[in-house]
Amino acid sequence: QSNSNLIRATLFPGDGIGPEIAESVRQIFKVAEVPIEWEEHYVGTEIDPRTNSFLTWESLESVRRNKVGLKGPMATPIGKGHRSLNLTLRKELNLYANVRPCYSLPGYKTRYDDVNLITIRENTEGEYSGLEHQVVRGVVESLKIITRQASLRVAEYAFHYAKTHGRERVSAIHKANIMQKTDGLFLKCCREVAEKYPEIKYEEVVIDNCCMMLVKNPALFDVLVMPNLYGDIISDLCAGLIGGLGLTPSCNIGEGGIALAEAVHGSAPDIAGKNLANPTALLLSSVSMLRHLELHDKADRIQDAILKTIAEGKYRTGDLGGTATTTEFTNAICDHL
Ligand code: NAD
Repeated sequence: QSNSNLIRATLFPGDGIGPEIAESVRQIFKVAEVPIEWEEHYVGTEIDPRTNSFLTWESLESVRRNKVGLKGPMATPIGKGHRSLNLTLRKELNLYANVRPCYSLPGYKTRYDDVNLITIRENTEGEYSGLEHQVVRGVVESLKIITRQASLRVAEYAFHYAKTHGRERVSAIHKANIMQKTDGLFLKCCREVAEKYPEIKYEEVVIDNCCMMLVKNPALFDVLVMPNLYGDIISDLCAGLIGGLGLTPSCNIGEGGIALAEAVHGSAPDIAGKNLANPTALLLSSVSMLRHLELHDKADRIQDAILKTIAEGKYRTGDLGGTATTTEFTNAICDHL
């Protein structure tokens, strides 16, 4: 039975620890009275010939229709002849930007206490175009594709994000001194977009120097935008700055206003089914989803409750050095709500 006052959103609990941490999100949304009705979709056990993957066409249609969703980790079954689940989502839904906010969690001590940056990764091309082949025996080639269209699209997203989120600066990360054509085009597109946003400071930072600066003083950065491979690496580096993959949320932005939020980590088969997983990354991803829906009061309330629970330190999961179960940690967040 559908309630017309509720916003429909697709939920992929996913594999491994996915169902446990998704349950945590469901419980917290209920307590916080978030006006969302979940449409749940599970990864299938057979390949759907329409998607050439274990994700069904109906699952993809659900995201296209709702335009908003939350995804737990998915483990692609090993075997030939089908596409990876994450790649299927990325390609079929044209998820062109991966946005990862990274900020120091108050009360959870790491080497840094002033991280507050956003990485925006181009998600559709670059080295991840899947164009690899053998030229002759012993020589292989991998094609890095950079297009004007995809570069402008992600740059536009980054500047728009900076402007609408009160951010001051966008740094384009590149290696254009060596990859003159590909990264050169990426930078050219960033510069073009930067001209339309004179109120946002723009700079270009070479990727190797960027890594050095990030580990020395992450507070130097605000919004970072970059091609696919650099984004993959830098966003994990940034996750490490604030305490690891169990904590970092992300959101994938697709064509036509689609937003699919997801935890950054995998299905953690080593702790799956044991009630040990830290649901924070998926919970903060669900907060990103609420912000995308402009449900800021609910987002603030849930985020505050999560941060308070972690800062208090009484209930922390094993990855943060505590002994709490997923359920105990979730209940503690509900108490703060
Ligand atoms: P992983 O992220 O699943 O696990 C790495 C380590 O981090 C493990 O020790 C795990 O216990 C721990 N960990 C991860 N998330 C945690 C959490 N929320 N709470 C507590 N501890 C946590 O990486 P992996 O082992 O390389 O991958 C496992 C599977 O997940 C693979 O099949 C991989 O393809 C898949 N994967 C999926 C995604 C995705 O869906 N976006 C991302 C990465 C990996």
